Amino acid sequence: MRADMARAAELGADMVECRLDYLPHPVSQADLRKLLANPPLDVIVTDRPRREGGRYDGDEPQRLATLREAAEFAPSAIDVEIDTPRDEWPDGAVILSHHDFAGLPADLDAIVTRLEASDAAVNKVAFAAENPADALRALDVVRACRKPTIALAMGEAGIASRILAGKFGAYGTFASLHPGAQSAPGQPTIAELKDLYRWDSIGPATKVFGVIGCPVAHSMSPAIHNAAFTAARVDGVYVPLRIEPGEANFDRFMDAVLARDWLGWRGLSVTIPHKENALAYVGADNCDPLAGRIGAINTITIGPDGTLRGDNTDYAAAIDALCNAMGIAREALAGRSVAVLGAGGAARAIVAALAHYGAETTIFNRTVKRGERLAGQFGCRAVGLGELARLDAEIVINCTPIGMHPKVDASPLAAIGPSTKVVFDTIYNPIETKLLRQARDAGLIGVSGLEMFVNQAVAQFEMWNSVPAPRETMREVVLARLSEGR
Ligand code: NAP
Repeated sequence: MRADMARAAELGADMVECRLDYLPHPVSQADLRKLLANPPLDVIVTDRPRREGGRYDGDEPQRLATLREAAEFAPSAIDVEIDTPRDEWPDGAVILSHHDFAGLPADLDAIVTRLEASDAAVNKVAFAAENPADALRALDVVRACRKPTIALAMGEAGIASRILAGKFGAYGTFASLHPGAQSAPGQPTIAELKDLYRWDSIGPATKVFGVIGCPVAHSMSPAIHNAAFTAARVDGVYVPLRIEPGEANFDRFMDAVLARDWLGWRGLSVTIPHKENALAYVGADNCDPLAGRIGAINTITIGPDGTLRGDNTDYAAAIDALCNAMGIAREALAGRSVAVLGAGGAARAIVAALAHYGAETTIFNRTVKRGERLAGQFGCRAVGLGELARLDAEIVINCTPIGMHPKVDASPLAAIGPSTKVVFDTIYNPIETKLLRQARDAGLIGVSGLEMFVNQAVAQFEMWNSVPAPRETMREVVLARLSEGR
C-alpha cells in the first residue's frame, strides 16, 4: 500500500485513499505507522464495512477503534459512513459518506440534506447508475451542496459523473492505479483520467460532448475527439455514455441533458443501437434531409439555447472517402454502376447517398428480403449473395463484416469482376482486408474503411467546433488504437 501511494504520487494523483478494509484486522499501531507516517501525498483513510460495499466484516467497535488510531497520524481526511453515531467519529476532518450499490436512492435529496447538516468537512454520496442520466443527478448534488462534495454514479453508465466532477467544483474524483485495481465499478485509471479525458484541463467553461451506444466501452471516439481537442486547443471533453437499448432509455438521458443548460453539453455522437432513436428524438424536421430518408442519425448538435440538430455524417464520410480516392466530385457518381454488399446500417447510409447522386446501385445481401426492402426505398435493385459470381460493377462496396478482425482470411468475393475499377471496404480493422489485397493485386483503386471512419469523426468535430479538425491527429489515434488491439 505504501508503495502504491508513492506510485499514485508519481502518476500525478493529488491525494490517495488508503483502504484499511483491504488489510487483515486488527491493524497494528506499527503497521498504521508504516502506512500513514510522513506519506508522499495527502491521504484519506477509509475502513469500509461490508454494509457499505467494503471488505471489513469484523465487529464495529474494532473498526472504529482502528479509525481512531489512524486519526492519530493526522491524515488529510477520514471517511466515516453516514450511519456512524456522531460521538464515535474519530478526530480530524471527516468525509461523511453514503453508498448505494443497488441504484439511485429514492431519498437522495434527504441523504444530501443530512450530509449538509452534519459538521463533517466533506460530503460523499455514491450510487449505482443504470443510465447516464443518473450521472447528471450526481452532478446536481455537487452543484447544490454548500460544502465540498464528492458525488459519483458508479458503474459504466455513470462514468460521466467521474470525468466531469472537476468542471463543477467537486472535492475530487477517484481513479485507480491500473486496470483491475478499481475500488468501485466504473472508475477510470489515473492515466485514462489525465491523458484520455483531459482531467487537468477541464474547468467551468469546458464544453461537453459524448458518444451514446451500447456497448460503448470499445468505442474509439473518446480517444479520437479528446486528442483532437488537445491538438486544436479546444476547451472540450468527450465522454462515453452507455445507454441500454430502447427508446425510453435514450429519451431519459436526452431529457436529462436538456433540463440542465448549465452542463454546457454541445454535441453527441450516436452509435448502435440508438441511431434511429436519435432521429425520432431530434425530429426529422431538424435533421439534414438525407438523414431523414436514411432513418438514422449519428450526430446531435446542441445549441446554447437547447435547440437540437441531427446529422448523419456516415454517408458523407463514405461518399467522400470513395470520391477522393477516385479523384471525382460526388456528382460524378451519376450513372456509374455500383455493387453494395450488405443491407444493414452502413449499407443503408451508403445506398441512400448513392441514390441521391444518381449512381446505378445493386444490393447483394444474404437475406434477400432485407436487401429488397432497402432497394425498394431508394429505387435500386437487390439480389442474393448467390449472384456474387455474376457481379460486374465499376465500384464494389463491402458493407458486411466479412473479412473483419479476427476472421481476416475471409473475403466476400472469390474473384473481382472484369469491369471493376474501384473496391471500397467499409471495414477498418484490419485497414487492409483480404478484399482490398485482392483489389491491389489486380491493380485497382482500393479504399479502406479507415478513411470513412476518420471522415465521420472529422465532420462531427467541425460541426461542433468553429475550428478545422486536426485530421492527422485523429487518424493517428485510430491507427494507434488498431495496432494496440492486435
Ligand atoms: P449491420 O447493420 O449488422 O449489417 C450487417 C450486414 O452484413 C447485413 O446486411 C448482414 O446480412 C450482412 N452480413 C453479416 N454477416 C454476414 C455473413 N457472415 N455473410 C454474409 N453477409 C453477412 O452492420 P453495419 O452497421 O451495417 O456494419 C457492417 C460493416 O460495416 C461492419 O462490419 C463495419 O466493418 C462496417 N462499418 C464501417 C464504418 C466505418 O466508419 N468505416 C461504419 C459503420 C460500419 P443479413 O441482412 O443477411 O443479416
